[in-house]
Amino acid sequence: MLVVMEKNATDAQIERVCAAIRTMGYEPHPMPGAQRTAVCITGNRGPVETDGLAGLPGIREFIRVSKPYKLVSREFRQEDTVITLGDDAIGGEALSVIAGPCSVESPETTLRIAERLATLGVRFFRAGAYKPRTSPYAFQGLGEEGLRILAEVRDRFGMRIVTEALDADSLESMAAVADIVQIGARNMHNTSLLKLVGRLDKPVLLKRGLAATLDELFMAAEYIMSAGNYRVILCERGIRSFCDHSRFTLDLAAVPAIRRMSHLPVLVDPSHAAGTSYMVEPLSLAAVACGASGLIVEVHEDPALAWSDGAQAVPLSEFPRLLKRIQAVRASMEAEPGVSEPPDLRIPPTAWASCA
Ligand code: PEP
Ligand code: MN
Repeated sequence: MLVVMEKNATDAQIERVCAAIRTMGYEPHPMPGAQRTAVCITGNRGPVETDGLAGLPGIREFIRVSKPYKLVSREFRQEDTVITLGDDAIGGEALSVIAGPCSVESPETTLRIAERLATLGVRFFRAGAYKPRTSPYAFQGLGEEGLRILAEVRDRFGMRIVTEALDADSLESMAAVADIVQIGARNMHNTSLLKLVGRLDKPVLLKRGLAATLDELFMAAEYIMSAGNYRVILCERGIRSFCDHSRFTLDLAAVPAIRRMSHLPVLVDPSHAAGTSYMVEPLSLAAVACGASGLIVEVHEDPALAWSDGAQAVPLSEFPRLLKRIQAVRASMEAEPGVSEPPDLRIPPTAWASCA
């Protein structure tokens, strides 16, 4: 149930509605927007009786939310959510790039990669200190030592750190270093971990499970938001299909679909979807063209020597070109096509070359 307030409702009126919802034994979630504040009610097991609210000043209408997810939905918040971290942002006008190796490696390698990315203007550095590997015999991440290296990246280059929370045990120490806490695809269904990151005062990057529907992704986000953390970023990273030409199948249709159903920003991870580096650039361009708010990409100075996921890592030397090309796609989307003249579909072959 949403309680939609009048546009000019006062803070006192909104607080009175929230207090009445608490008295009914439910949890109020006020969400201010440009057009109106909506107060979402959670904690109810069946339909909410509005008797205790009817007549309170400042209420415009009650809307029953038709979907099982509420706080995630566009009905709750009509504007796109923009997640800000100081001067940086994910969502809205921003085209955000999170880049770095799959795992934190030696301090020398990790710092060299981070320094190069920082000089290219990349603001968000990714690398896992705790790795959810398919094989128990594969490298599992440097753990605490990896977190120390990530803290050095943050302190030396001023980059914001995106790293994965694997379990409750390591959550506290990793959240002390992470600016954005990543929940990996394999943990999207880990409801106890979702509740824990729901209590953090940090944005959460929630990756879609390997075979999760969008409703399941939204319900996972709802776990985080209903625990009080509204700063959730969704990520499409490829789903399991019958195709064997890529590691997973990047579901690009998820991007416009998510944007229609939810106000949360959506990023795309072309690296884990592709599994092989030559596909990363075309998938990145397509993701931006589909309306993604940005990308999370695996990059390495020497992919052949990477400690994990080397086959899908874009060599650092090729990364500036990818950055330029995604910016060109975004810029082409911002330009309003002229309506007075028919489009010229004979695109000269040099058009793409000039983006490189
Ligand atoms: C990762 O980003 O390092 C990762 C393991 O991704 P995913 O959870 O999407 O497999
Ligand atoms: Mn990886």
